[in-house]
This record gives sequence, C-alpha cells and structure tokens, in this order.
Amino acid sequence: MEPNYSFARNMARKVLKDYKLSEAPTDLTMIFRGLHLKYIELNDADEIDGAILEIDGKPAIAVLNKARPLQRQRFTLAHELGHIFLEHIKRDIYDPEEIRESDAQSTGKTKPPKEIEADVFAAELLVPYEQLKKYSADMSNVDKLAGIFQVSKQAMTLAIMNYWKHTGKKTKR
Ligand SMILES: [Zn+2]
Repeated sequence: MEPNYSFARNMARKVLKDYKLSEAPTDLTMIFRGLHLKYIELNDADEIDGAILEIDGKPAIAVLNKARPLQRQRFTLAHELGHIFLEHIKRDIYDPEEIRESDAQSTGKTKPPKEIEADVFAAELLVPYEQLKKYSADMSNVDKLAGIFQVSKQAMTLAIMNYWKHTGKKTKR
C-alpha cells in the first residue's frame, strides 16, 4: 500500500475548517476537546513521544511526553490526531510512537504508509498551506515562521520547501 498524500492533506484541511482553526499556531486542544479525548502527560525522557490508547476500539486517551520540546509535542499530537481522522483503526491497544521528524526525512528510512500519512496530516494541520501563504514576505525566515506556527525548524523548512514546490508549479508559464 502506498501512502495517500492528498487524502491525508485534505483531511487536515477539513479538520481545520470543521474546528474553525484559521489562525497560527493551530490550537490542537480544541480538537482534543471536540473528540472528548482524555489526556495523560508523561515526563520521562526515556519514554515514548506519545500514543493514542483505544478503549473498546475507539480512540479514548492521548498520551503525551512533556519531556520533549514543545514543538515536538505538538507534532506528536498532530500525528496522533492524523491516525484518528484518517481512520487508521484496528491498531494495537497501546501503540507507541517513535516520531523522529528529522530522522525519517534525512535517512530516507521507509516508514509504514500509515505513519507517512499521519505525518503528512500533521504537517498540514500545523502549517496549513492557506495560512503559510499570508507570510510569503517572511518565507526565507525559518526561525520567525517556526515561532509563529510553533513547529520545529526542520518541520518549518519542509513546509516552506513544499510551499515553493507548489507555488512554483502554479506560476510557471
Ligand atoms: Zn504513528
């Protein structure tokens, strides 16, 4: 199975619309509240980044590791939400996540398609294309944009690269 990039991206856009999230940074707590997810915080550097625990086959509890930097926590949360909205169900009861944004990109290690889809969902949820457009004047300032969208610099760099790729195609004559 190949990852379905446009499905994942469009789902993130739908969620942003449904939850009326049109300002950076994306307020993920609104979505957790909307889903009635319970929330557990870990604080252990040796532990997992985060996970969704299912009860009776339904996502019920989000686990988050506060020992990680804020930007990484946000990416983890958004990634977990991706699994829920993309209906990656029938997973293990306890499904730990090892999300290494930079590793996965730089080593080119093959991730399972569902993990890639959850990452694509997370990237669009945290740095929505429509919102990034408003900052076209700041597009070379990764630090500033990473601060605005509250994502890591790696995640921001990727978002900007995708943005250029997309607009480049559109404006080509
Ligand atoms: Zn995952």
